[in-house]
Amino acid sequence: MAEFDLIEIIKQLTRQNRPDVRIGIGDDAAVVCVPPDCELVICSDTLVSGVHFPVNTDPADIGWKSLAVNLSDLAAMGATPAWATLAMTLPVADSGFVERFAKGFAELAAAWEVDLVGGDTTRGPLSITVTAHGFVPAGQAIQRSGATVGDAVYVTGTLGDAAAGLRILQSASALGAESGAHERFVVTRLNRPQARIGAGTALRELASACIDISDGLLADLGHVASSSAVGIEIGEDCLPQSTALAECFDAETRTGLQMWGGDDYELAFTIAEANVEVMREAMERQGCRVSRIGRVIDEPGVHVLDHNGRRRPTTSKGWDHFK
Ligand code: ADP
Ligand code: MG
Repeated sequence: MAEFDLIEIIKQLTRQNRPDVRIGIGDDAAVVCVPPDCELVICSDTLVSGVHFPVNTDPADIGWKSLAVNLSDLAAMGATPAWATLAMTLPVADSGFVERFAKGFAELAAAWEVDLVGGDTTRGPLSITVTAHGFVPAGQAIQRSGATVGDAVYVTGTLGDAAAGLRILQSASALGAESGAHERFVVTRLNRPQARIGAGTALRELASACIDISDGLLADLGHVASSSAVGIEIGEDCLPQSTALAECFDAETRTGLQMWGGDDYELAFTIAEANVEVMREAMERQGCRVSRIGRVIDEPGVHVLDHNGRRRPTTSKGWDHFK
């Protein structure tokens, strides 16, 4: 199968009809129209086989996830997604792989009307880079640097599920037919993350800072704290957990997965108390669960309080293996 045929498969399977795409796949470069009074928001993320997904992952899941991780970055900025490009490195010109990949990619792309407008196809160890483009009304992108002492800290959804899914995949070579609904739930959270686009755009004029949780809650809150030159204190007991997580792991493991586990692609944000009520109503309309997990303080760093309100030393032995 020639490179051109692979590109044709991708083109056919991902076609959208956005009126703002003047020139899509097929020329030397794509040409798109940015709406007036908007700013372009651009992000790029690479998934490497064996590093960002297990080698035996279904290509459709790889396709979905390669777009999802980028839409999540747009969501964290409060952006509305519009276009994507795809740089694909494949060990062999495998049309079956490309078809399944494109179907998974297209499923998520269609849900948010994201048009794949170009890319590159090369031979080499399996690696996928997607670049996503979206827009925000000028000046309204949510940054990591806006957190202010006294703000509340919130997260969307539940934490630790994707890391739990990875644990389960690593402990069993494949999910057998006998695996339960909880196991399947957390593995789906790993393979098919949902970018919080609706929540992100709703937070544009409400949140003071926002980040998507890709590297783990504590690591990502650390980025908000350092960018904003503040500290963050969170309560271990406040972290939202799914029923599936509660059923699959003991309390100590669970808390570790919630704190350090990556790949959840939920949003963590800071917000002035004055905006909390409006935010809660907006999230309820979206059907998006939000949980208050802590507050912004002036002491630098991210600090965890145990159920007695005492600071938990996050480098203590029981925690090291999550790092
Ligand atoms: P060029 O040699 O000019 O870079 P290519 O032959 O690499 O062009 O690509 C031809 C067209 O197909 C271009 O529009 C390019 O953006 C698109 N394309 C190539 N690979 C992909 C891909 N993996 N996904 C989407 N579009 C692609
Ligand atoms: Mg060219």
